[in-house]
Amino acid sequence: MDDRIIDGKAAAASLRGRVARGVERLKAEQALTPGLAVVIVGEDPASQIYVRNKGEQTRDAGMRSDTYRLPDTATQDQLLALVHDLNADPGIHGILVQLPLPAHIDSAAVLAAISPDKDVDGFHVVNVGRLSTGLPGLVPCTPLGCIILLKDALGDLSGMNAVVVGRSNIVGKPMAQLLLAENCTVTVAHSRTNDLPQVCRGADILVAAVGRPEMIRGDWIKPGATVIDVGINRVPSRDPEKAAEGKTRVVGDVAFEEALQVARRITPVPGGVGPMTIACLLANTYTAACLSAGLDPTLPA
Ligand code: NAP
Repeated sequence: MDDRIIDGKAAAASLRGRVARGVERLKAEQALTPGLAVVIVGEDPASQIYVRNKGEQTRDAGMRSDTYRLPDTATQDQLLALVHDLNADPGIHGILVQLPLPAHIDSAAVLAAISPDKDVDGFHVVNVGRLSTGLPGLVPCTPLGCIILLKDALGDLSGMNAVVVGRSNIVGKPMAQLLLAENCTVTVAHSRTNDLPQVCRGADILVAAVGRPEMIRGDWIKPGATVIDVGINRVPSRDPEKAAEGKTRVVGDVAFEEALQVARRITPVPGGVGPMTIACLLANTYTAACLSAGLDPTLPA
């Protein structure tokens, strides 16, 4: 692979391997098996695939994996009762409620009901507060994956200008906090930002988390910058015949071929940030299990 391209698949495999070795050690030395419960409500096909992958990778890492499938007629009270049971279950260290939830359920109320110590998605306000005040806690998986890739690629990030395009609670904002914690000078851009191309040109590190196919062009990127593309967008296949049949391909928020001409390092889509997200979910489950037993959560090398 072109050494400018950051190989997220390899990085994710390496992180999963470290988690698996950590789990093996926890089982042998502490008789502790980390457990992850994933709750899915309804039949959304994309969510079904994500949940199946999470279950498989959790088991492959040697952890306990429980999946709870509720029908889309399930009530909010039923879901909250399940979350309360899982909060109280000592064999479960991580709880993930797959989003989106059906419209009749208040997602915020459900996420708030998860014990912050088992909140492996890092979405609970207590974990958001811990991240923004520099306290140890559980960090959202996608930005955690991005910061791991950045540190692998660049080493010390101190003093770098970082621009995060996107300010969502699940990617943009926690990404900005993580970069700040690495001593970057951080700008968060969004749909109301004036002259976005010029803002992006100031970035040594450019993180795109927008959800707009190939919006960020090559001439928005400072030569030598490192680009992390979080976007996952489906667009019609390049082949007109296949496109007419409804076939699609996945692209990021960055025009990859253009960006590759100027960037020092760049994540591809697919195969960049995406694979890191589930690996970080496993790492968070390991962390939660260690902290529940008062153990150091540092992963083995
Ligand atoms: P989101 O909640 O829709 O947030 C998008 C952000 O982009 C918002 O802050 C929005 O600004 C900003 N934005 C939209 N249009 C813009 C424009 N024209 N110029 C500048 N900023 C603009 O999305 P998200 O959940 O953060 O996800 C972002 C992307 O990452 C999506 O493609 C998603 O599929 C992908 N994703 C990937 C993973 C993974 O595992 N790799 C995980 C999560 C998400 P405003 O706040 O002003 O509206």
